[in-house]
Amino acid sequence: MKELLKKILKAVNLYHPLQLLYRQWLFDIKRQYLRFRYRKFKGDLFTCNVCGKSYLKFAPDYPSQENRIAIRQHAVIAGYGDNIICPNCLSVARDRLVLAMLEKIDLHSKKVLHISPEKNIYSFLCSKAIVQTADLTPQFYRNVDKHISKADLTDLPYPDNSFDVVVANHVLEHVPDDRSAMKEIFRVLKSTGIAILQVPFSAILMATLEEPDILDPCKQSILFGQKDHVRIYSLTDYIKRLQETGFVVDYLDYESLRPLHKFAIQPGEGFFKITK
Ligand SMILES: [Zn+2]
Repeated sequence: MKELLKKILKAVNLYHPLQLLYRQWLFDIKRQYLRFRYRKFKGDLFTCNVCGKSYLKFAPDYPSQENRIAIRQHAVIAGYGDNIICPNCLSVARDRLVLAMLEKIDLHSKKVLHISPEKNIYSFLCSKAIVQTADLTPQFYRNVDKHISKADLTDLPYPDNSFDVVVANHVLEHVPDDRSAMKEIFRVLKSTGIAILQVPFSAILMATLEEPDILDPCKQSILFGQKDHVRIYSLTDYIKRLQETGFVVDYLDYESLRPLHKFAIQPGEGFFKITK
């Protein structure tokens, strides 16, 4: 019944607009609740670099029952734990880390390709740079950028060396042919460019766990900790794949990011500094 309704709504082009409205409604309710619940935790331990508000603690975010097994078993750094969600604006740890790193880059008049654009990161980029957004399913992101283009990350419709920065934050774990996607990002990035390609990863896995052709959301949750992921990267293997593509990778571990801990970035998450 649910699938039939989905098909009908898609046929009349109402599925994605309704889904966006529903997601916005959930977001507004959650924000009201968290603002009320955390009003007594205002303090200066953590500061949100999106909205500027400070709290003694941020709201936690834990994986659902079906996703928990893989995430716990492989100790995946996937954006879960304590102090993940800003109670004021609902920014999440993984976006705050990327924003903090973007703030260190001179973006003035630079050309940026933002894949699967997150609202907070997109707003920041737009205030400084010329931003092109794209996704395989652009309808999901019309509320972020109504001009978003449809593009396949493994076959990008842009010339060589056309962007100063490419941001694809937590995207590659969804892409069956991630090596082709890495090659395409390498191709469209200028020689002086920077790619921001954060992914969930496991530092204890020796090899990446993956099933690129899998199309079974229940199994994907159990194996990879999310219904639309096709792999869990091993930290070392992820760096190796990027290097094999031709990128220079400097992994800045969580400890070395100490000045950013005040933004409540996720413990254990480092930053992949990826250049050509
Ligand atoms: Zn905030």
